[in-house]
Amino acid sequence: MADGQPVADCLFCKIVAGEIPATVVRETENTFAFKDINPQAPIHDLVVPRAHYADAAELAAHSPELTAALLVEAGEVAKAEGIADDGYRIVFNTGAHAGQTVFHVHAHVLGGDFLAHFGS
Ligand code: 5GP
Repeated sequence: MADGQPVADCLFCKIVAGEIPATVVRETENTFAFKDINPQAPIHDLVVPRAHYADAAELAAHSPELTAALLVEAGEVAKAEGIADDGYRIVFNTGAHAGQTVFHVHAHVLGGDFLAHFGS
């Protein structure tokens, strides 16, 4: 049962704890935003809750408040990065088929140029 407690072998728990370095974009009481190490757009940040939940569905099931805070913070990160006016993408890869590789929920915030169109 997920309870938000840190997980010992979780990469993003270690980044939040300062045990692994990252380029920090913003911090709040409940969230932590940092640069993606392998950017897929001119601006590519990751926004995570400090609490550990595996993915967006698990987070939403356990804490609607923290889910909302994560989305609000994604918008604040976009503003801080100067991409809010032109537009940006928020992505939650959820599960293996979506390409999720780190199982600590994270919002990708992507922007800074026209992004490839996805879907119809
Ligand atoms: P996912 O594929 O799980 O949706 O996204 C994981 C993201 O974490 C990837 O975009 C990857 O580049 C990023 N990432 C993986 N390891 C590190 C790291 O050690 N530091 C940072 N800043 N980003 C990482």
